[in-house]
Amino acid sequence: MTPRSPVPLHLADLPLEERHQLLTDLGEPSYRAKQVSAHYFARLCDEPAAMTDLPATRRSDIGAALLPNLLHQVREVGCDAGRTHKTLWRLHDGVLVESVLMAYPDRVTVCVSSQAGCAMACPFCATGQAGLQRNLSTAEIVDQVVASARHARDGVLGGESRRLSNVVFMGMGEPLANYPRTVAAVRRITDPPPLGLGVSQRSVTVSTVGLVPRIRQLAREGLAVTLAVSLHAPDDGLRDELVPVNQRWKVAEVLDAAWGYAEQTGRRVSIEYAMIRAVNDQPWRADLLASLLRGHLAHVNLIPLNPTPGSRWDASEPAVMEEFVRRLRSGGISVTVRDTRGQEIAGACGQLAASG
Ligand code: SAH
Repeated sequence: MTPRSPVPLHLADLPLEERHQLLTDLGEPSYRAKQVSAHYFARLCDEPAAMTDLPATRRSDIGAALLPNLLHQVREVGCDAGRTHKTLWRLHDGVLVESVLMAYPDRVTVCVSSQAGCAMACPFCATGQAGLQRNLSTAEIVDQVVASARHARDGVLGGESRRLSNVVFMGMGEPLANYPRTVAAVRRITDPPPLGLGVSQRSVTVSTVGLVPRIRQLAREGLAVTLAVSLHAPDDGLRDELVPVNQRWKVAEVLDAAWGYAEQTGRRVSIEYAMIRAVNDQPWRADLLASLLRGHLAHVNLIPLNPTPGSRWDASEPAVMEEFVRRLRSGGISVTVRDTRGQEIAGACGQLAASG
């Protein structure tokens, strides 16, 4: 294996107390940690030259120590009439990741990557095909959110200045396989400024293939974030194929951990289900899914499959999808069908950076 240079340390990697230490080490008063943090998290500014409350002669040293440039923008592209904006980033070691900003009437959501690549190998997902390159650092995750908040403020979403309100860990990677950095990133994203960005915990969603021990651990973190479980099949036979980690943790165990999470946090769990034509969209699977979820704090999010290049799979027929929805609803389950943003820019789920 080739040795890898570590990701530069950034203030978003650390809780505020540890940022104080970094400044003391530089020979600066520790209160500067708060000043720089306020620039970064409250004003979304990462240019030391613009931080006029710092001594002019010290700005570049302080900037180099606390705000190294982690994300280099390679490309950005908008679609859906300016309501979707995708950015491709190159990290310090050349690895590529993407984030996607989506505007809705009532909210602005950014979809972030937690890893470069992914080891989970789900066969319908573009990221899963290439394997894992590496975990992202806490700050590499947080900076995607800060940069996106800045983009939204500066009008990339159709020219209007918008405030970022929601964060979903549904970009590249399996967030719970990068557990400590994901949890630290969630804290930085949700802590109030200058500790963090101040996004409401309820507006953050962490999506997982179903790493059962990590779901149970997340339930004990005292975070009220939404958990999304990528189920995609209600039966182990098919799920073993669609989400290979199911060979380790079965549907019943994953759902049991999800209900534990719902109980602990009071938050409804989102069950993600990609609708794949003639693979997982049969009426009997809708009925089985409804029976598994009935009586639990759950909501189903159906996603028409976004076929990856060369895939043998396709999205379900609209009529089949309607019947699936009807059966879930008549089984007492709340369901939404996700709109498929970003298709024309390969910004749909699992396609991030695959075409980089
Ligand atoms: N690893 C995490 C988060 C990243 S993927 C997880 O699996 O939950 C975010 C969601 O997009 C997951 O539900 C994933 O299964 C889904 N997805 C991936 N590729 C897709 C595709 N081609 N079409 C539709 N949904 C897809």
